[in-house]
Amino acid sequence: MIRVTSTLIVHRPERILYYLPEITDEVKQCIADGVCPPALEPYLYRFGTYDEAGLFFLPEEIQKDNSEKGIVGIEYRKDDVTVEVPEFLPSVVLPACHVVIQDITYENQLDEERLQEVISYARREKNDRSKFYRYVEGGLVAAFSVKEKLRVMYEIKLVNEPKQFLNNGCEDYTKEELYHRAYYDIITGFNNWSWMWECLLTYYLGSVKDYAFVHFDIKDFKMVNELYNHHAGNDLLLHITQNIAKHNDWIYYGARCHNDNFALMIKDMPEDETKEKLSAFFEEISRLDVNPAYRIYYRCGVVSMRYAMNMGETVADYAKMAQATGTRINETEILFYTNEMHEDILWGKQLKAYLDTAIRSDEFLVYLQPKMDIESESISGAEALIRWNYKHKGLMPPYRFIPYFEADDSIIKVDEVVLHKVCAKLKEWKEKGYSLFPISVNLSRKHMEQFGLADHLVGIVDSYGVDHSLIEFELTESAAYDNQKYMVSVLHELKSKGFLISMDDFGTGYSSFGLLKDMPLDTLKIDKSFVDLIAVEEEPNKNKIILGHIISMAKDLGIHCLAEGAEEYAQVVALRELGCETIQGYYYSKPIDVESFEEQYILYKYIKRRKEMFIMRKA
Ligand code: C2E
Ligand code: MG
Ligand code: MG
Repeated sequence: MIRVTSTLIVHRPERILYYLPEITDEVKQCIADGVCPPALEPYLYRFGTYDEAGLFFLPEEIQKDNSEKGIVGIEYRKDDVTVEVPEFLPSVVLPACHVVIQDITYENQLDEERLQEVISYARREKNDRSKFYRYVEGGLVAAFSVKEKLRVMYEIKLVNEPKQFLNNGCEDYTKEELYHRAYYDIITGFNNWSWMWECLLTYYLGSVKDYAFVHFDIKDFKMVNELYNHHAGNDLLLHITQNIAKHNDWIYYGARCHNDNFALMIKDMPEDETKEKLSAFFEEISRLDVNPAYRIYYRCGVVSMRYAMNMGETVADYAKMAQATGTRINETEILFYTNEMHEDILWGKQLKAYLDTAIRSDEFLVYLQPKMDIESESISGAEALIRWNYKHKGLMPPYRFIPYFEADDSIIKVDEVVLHKVCAKLKEWKEKGYSLFPISVNLSRKHMEQFGLADHLVGIVDSYGVDHSLIEFELTESAAYDNQKYMVSVLHELKSKGFLISMDDFGTGYSSFGLLKDMPLDTLKIDKSFVDLIAVEEEPNKNKIILGHIISMAKDLGIHCLAEGAEEYAQVVALRELGCETIQGYYYSKPIDVESFEEQYILYKYIKRRKEMFIMRKA
């Protein structure tokens, strides 16, 4: 299956493509395999280089020699003095153009023929995004293998056709009026986001060559409106736009996007200088006319040129992402989009694109960690914890992938894989006559928001004929806090179907004691952070005092207490003293694979019981 996972339109300035004089089958296969041909490897990931080494099919007018069959090379910004370019290689100048860049995932390995198939598939998958421009196919096509997916790039032509749009059913307005409405903000009279968006596509028509992108908002803008009324708020917005216009020596384009959000395309400068310029800019707009003593602070995200040039109109999303990392209150923050963020985003995208394939090729495993009764020190249950045997290359722990899937609904698929696997195992154990105990699975917040969740889960469990009392659902405390009313009603429904319910990581999120009263909980899982501090020598041990009260309160409410993450004997002793009933922690066992678990906790128990029965019968 071939799938387009993202599409971008970016402008590429005039540039030079250095290419290998000979394109052997081996070199082409490198591109198909996602490996850089060794001869080009020293030039990868250099500032000034566009993307990776790729296979290029040039437009007829600039073709040289045999290049209509494709050449393998690497593109550089023209006249770039910041990098060493492979000048000993033949080169060709690629004219400035707009390109569509698509990321493609595919199954199976690509050979040269399949590569062509994928490229032509990408070219068919176009989408019209702008009312003002239409796409006409250009000449250049290229393919790059990037991080286990194929990136296809092809040239397009943007044809300006505003007349057609404006003449369409807008007879009551003059063209100037319509243009104004489309591109200017009503409150400040300044450019709006649509205007900025077109700038991102057409900046090359002006004098702009390279730009960095800035997105910022006013901290606590609501407060300005509430304290000094909307006029003061609007005056501030106007003051900001006037200040943007004043700095046209380094701010190429600016716009008020919406509410208190602004975007700028600014001159490419070293990071220090960008920070300095922006700080001074924000300082100039940090006072209110109505009350000069009141300070205004800003939260600002910056995408530097090296990233911005490859992001097209999506650059604003990335600037907002950097902006969102700001956490301080009374301070203006200028936050740069970093390599780590970039890597993180690529990783998340890659995981999501690959998830369905991973499920189909059975890469997810369930590990089980025993829950031990603190008095008898015998097993009373287990938690199913997911592991990913990523591309069958080795196990990946949950923190490397769960957070990315939690960002959207993909986590639901993952949670259900675990539930299916747990049910299948319980069914098998039941058929073998082993004695069983409840196994818990984690339910993410997204899952809790699903309509008809209880019936859906019952459907899965019943398809294996597993007794509902053998399945426990763990929901995290933060999950418990969102959509309280709905979540409580779902929990009651699950409880009425005979499932067990526990609250995970208690004490980490928004501990709400009110919820304990409303939720039909069987078990409270006390978070490891409490357990870590329970045996430290400190008088009084406040942590221990609080935990003692939590445990006795839970007991009074008829809720069972389990402590997570006990690693040392002293912790077990302290927990026993406080009346905690169950422990799940490395002190007893780490999570282990299902086969080892079966051997240690199920078969052992089974054989012991058979022996006892045998002895009893003999006696
Ligand atoms: P959790 O549900 O609170 O699971 C307990 C985590 O604590 C597990 O980490 C377990 O290995 C770890 N742990 C238990 N005892 C000890 C100990 O004594 N010392 C230390 N250092 N750690 C201990 P794991 O397996 O890495 O899972 C981490 C988290 O990932 C889980 O926390 C859960 O929130 C999430 N997760 C795991 N599997 C799933 C799943 O199938 N679905 C969802 N939605 N989340 C999952
Ligand atoms: Mg859990
Ligand atoms: Mg937990």
